[in-house]
Amino acid sequence: MKKIVLHACCAPCASYPIKKLIEDNCEPVVFFYNPNIYPTDEYNIRKNELEAYCSKYDVEFFEGEYNHSLYCEKISGMEDEPEKGKRCSVCFYLRLKKTAEFAKEKGIDLFTTTLSVSPHKNSAQIFYEAKKVQNETGVEFVEYNFKKNDGFKISRLIAKENNMYAQSYCGCKFSIKKSQ
Ligand code: SF4
Repeated sequence: MKKIVLHACCAPCASYPIKKLIEDNCEPVVFFYNPNIYPTDEYNIRKNELEAYCSKYDVEFFEGEYNHSLYCEKISGMEDEPEKGKRCSVCFYLRLKKTAEFAKEKGIDLFTTTLSVSPHKNSAQIFYEAKKVQNETGVEFVEYNFKKNDGFKISRLIAKENNMYAQSYCGCKFSIKKSQ
């Protein structure tokens, strides 16, 4: 089985990608790196839920640094951008770059992300940022479009079966405003 680092944003979104990677004979190593999440309580809920899910299914779990001020600095001036706009590109790049660096540290050649499972996100936009990261780090991005083949629907079913907490917004404070 080939190890692959799976950047994961939360347990519901990670559920189907973990299943799919295992079916594809890969060993996912989950990396929770999401400095975009606001507030801290929400961050901890999402992190704890994912860590518990990984432990239940014997999947390795790692947490990156929760440096929310770094996120705020990177997206400065883009606060009013719509979802799927420039702020999201910067947010994807930040998270995926750290994921590829983490993979390199661990001696793992591949990475991918759960972000593509959401129907609210543009997979081409995610893949564009991921390929930039691939070119910069030399760690190969595996282009999984997890929303395909009912991926999102399956992820929600698994979340329901496992009584997972399901948030109502993407993650940053600007997405809270948009979801209300
Ligand atoms: S809406 Fe989601 S992807 Fe876009 S900047 Fe906010 S947290 Fe990141």
